Amino acid sequence: MQKLELTLAIIKPHAVSNPVVRTFIRNILKNKFIVVKTKRVTLDTDTACKFYEEHAGKFFFKRLTTFMTSGCIDLHVLGHVNAIQMWRQCLGPTSVYKGQFQDPYCLRGMFGISDTRNVAHGSDSQDSAEREIKFFFPEFSFYQWRIDDEEWFR
Ligand code: ADP
Ligand code: MG
Repeated sequence: MQKLELTLAIIKPHAVSNPVVRTFIRNILKNKFIVVKTKRVTLDTDTACKFYEEHAGKFFFKRLTTFMTSGCIDLHVLGHVNAIQMWRQCLGPTSVYKGQFQDPYCLRGMFGISDTRNVAHGSDSQDSAEREIKFFFPEFSFYQWRIDDEEWFR
């Protein structure tokens, strides 16, 4: 039996505020994934620092957290049998410049402005997907969802 995998996508402020980019991304999400949950929020500094705590101390940390609190972001819990890898493939490499060379049609290659303002976030493993989804959707029940997930494939 196929199982759905979940991942967390975050559409970053500069992409949310651009209607063309926002619509382009929405079409990808609708066509390729099951959009399980969606929420629009504006992060405060503490929340942004906590979410990105693995990067605390890196040279871009302040730049990243300042950017992520500069406007609203869209959070999406995405489902697919291979959601984590598929969404990261849609994003392309972290570096926008690399993306433009490796895959000119990836979201970061097309719409990224800098290595920080690189359009969107995607969880990088099942463990981080679970942590990140719980971080933003504490009410979300993975247990209930696993029972329900057979329904998606009926
Ligand atoms: P990814 O988002 O591809 O998983 P990381 O987890 O390594 O990448 O980094 C988190 C975020 O921090 C990136 O999406 C990007 O916004 C920012 N970032 C990462 N590396 C750099 C860098 N070298 N310069 C500027 N910003 C960076
Ligand atoms: Mg990452």
